[in-house]
Amino acid sequence: MVALSPPIPAALTDGHGRRIDYLRLSVTDRCDLRCRYCMAEDMQFLPKSAVLSIEEMADLAERFVARGVRRIRLTGGEPLVRRGIDTLATRIGALIGRGLDELTLTTNAMRLSEHAEMLAASGVRRINVSLDTLDPAAFRHITRVGTLETALDGIAAARRAGLAVKINMVALARLNEDQLLPMLDWCAANGCDLTLIETMPLGEIAEDRSDHYMPLHQFVAPLRTQRALYPIDRRTGGPARYFAIEDSPVTLGLITPLSDNFCASCNRIRLTVEGRIYMCLGQDDHVDLRIALRERGDVNGLIDRALAGKPRAHDFRIERKSQPAVARHMSATGG
Ligand code: SAM
Ligand code: SF4
Repeated sequence: MVALSPPIPAALTDGHGRRIDYLRLSVTDRCDLRCRYCMAEDMQFLPKSAVLSIEEMADLAERFVARGVRRIRLTGGEPLVRRGIDTLATRIGALIGRGLDELTLTTNAMRLSEHAEMLAASGVRRINVSLDTLDPAAFRHITRVGTLETALDGIAAARRAGLAVKINMVALARLNEDQLLPMLDWCAANGCDLTLIETMPLGEIAEDRSDHYMPLHQFVAPLRTQRALYPIDRRTGGPARYFAIEDSPVTLGLITPLSDNFCASCNRIRLTVEGRIYMCLGQDDHVDLRIALRERGDVNGLIDRALAGKPRAHDFRIERKSQPAVARHMSATGG
């Protein structure tokens, strides 16, 4: 009699026929900064018992790669504050070329100087760094506790380690609207690309987020008066639209969740540090993998259920004094 091998689970496709091959893995909800648009000053973080171990995250990453995920981004919270991040990056990096095409990371760069070499050795080739301003006082104000110089040192270390760096800059009315042109010049001088992001209504932050909301067409207007922007076709399945800039080596990305919905081509799912799959950044529906993982339950079946429930589109709106669209902070789901 021929021995039957266990059935290979099907590749990941959601209920709208979209192929899901990109996983964002939030490795901690904690952070060493308190950016005003992201967190309240006195955030309550998850107890240790509620979060996945490094071993469990690596195990889940392997399962997702076996199901056809080709790109994984480590995020948070701040991924570089998670103890064991080196072990996790090494475990996931070992999947590159064995199903995984790419491992990336999003960081605030506060601890990048000490981790850049480790990331490069794990197989990471490019990272996103959040940097909203080059003005030291504004940097401290926006992050509440951060020092600009530390972030710039971290980025320099990443470049020396051979990592490509894309800067993520959140557009904030009156806080950094004067910074686009300096940031662009700085990116050109330092070999970085730049992506601009509209603030999204995620989680209570003690302030009214709509006070600083600025649509990107307005944020970019001063640049357009000086230099032409040419749309370029760079499909990542992600939410950004990309532009070449006249007389600049920098590729500019625009992420406009509110002024221009980008959901139709969404190819991603998010796994939180609690082991929950959130099918959409903008909705509360989730499937919990942690118990199934710990009690040897049907993890693959739960992943399928999550995908079947992935919504066609988010339903963000930003209105004055509006409640956040979802109670979760970006730092909990993984930005
Ligand atoms: N701590 C890391 C960092 O800041 O790069 C990774 C996590 S952070 C949540 C990921 C990205 O989300 C950052 O680029 C940050 O600027 C962005 N972000 C956080 N809260 C946001 C919000 N409410 N709206 C838009 N972007 C947000
Ligand atoms: Fe921390 Fe990133 Fe949120 Fe800033 S945006 S508070 S660095 S998680």
